[in-house]
Amino acid sequence: MADVAEIVTIFMELMEDMVLIDYHVHAMAHGEYKYSADWLQGYINQARARKISHLGFSEHDWLWSGIDLSAVQELAPKPENADISIRVGIEVDYRPETENEIKALLGQNSLDYVIGSVHHIGEWPFDHADYKDKFLHCDIDEVYQEYYMLVQQAVRSQLFDIVGHLDLVKVWGFRSSKYQDSSRLKALLGEIRKSGMAVEVNTGGLRKPIGEIYPSENILHSLFENNIPITFGSDAHHPNQLGDGLSDACRMAWNVGYRSMAGFSGRRKTWHLMAKSN
Ligand SMILES: [Zn+2]
Ligand SMILES: [Zn+2]
Repeated sequence: MADVAEIVTIFMELMEDMVLIDYHVHAMAHGEYKYSADWLQGYINQARARKISHLGFSEHDWLWSGIDLSAVQELAPKPENADISIRVGIEVDYRPETENEIKALLGQNSLDYVIGSVHHIGEWPFDHADYKDKFLHCDIDEVYQEYYMLVQQAVRSQLFDIVGHLDLVKVWGFRSSKYQDSSRLKALLGEIRKSGMAVEVNTGGLRKPIGEIYPSENILHSLFENNIPITFGSDAHHPNQLGDGLSDACRMAWNVGYRSMAGFSGRRKTWHLMAKSN
């Protein structure tokens, strides 16, 4: 007779290929496109073509005043879109000095999830191509330390549901050997675990000079060991980028041991079995 572990394995295999999530999607890109029903429908069509069953729009917070959510509210109930679970999230650029503004913005909107991301170290937009040369004149270990301290502050703020692109600081290919397996990074993962947040596996890094998923496989392995939930996002800034690399991301997560992932609805987690690959 099959034991419990075998039954669970068989069940998991039967459920494979059920769900693919893309929760990190910028329909407006950096303001180049309008948040209109016609434009959003292009993302939904692409999700369908790529077998993504859970699609979440997550505009940058600094574009939020130009968004009329009636566009997505119009599309979600349409019978032709019934095969896709459509969610509305936001990606917030975390800066400690703007916590009160973030709180106010989140309080005014009913969202399915909030991604907290660090794009600035002080006044330095380190992931912006125009400012990457500053890495050449900095102590990389210090940059990493400052970056991860900000991520820690974002986690402690309890404002967010998802940690955005956890190791974004590697974007231009500058690496800190010191930080790779440091006790500080481990402490941060402990805090994420305590916070109940999920970490996204973000494939946007595949389009950047680093050419890697965020976070790295090593960190993802530590996330799994710390029992931290994951979700997925392509960081698409155009319908053509939607879902890019998610099969690789799923495979990587599967290989480190993950079999389930977190979705969100009304800022509460939902749980989904993972596809091994698509
Ligand atoms: Zn981001
Ligand atoms: Zn983004």
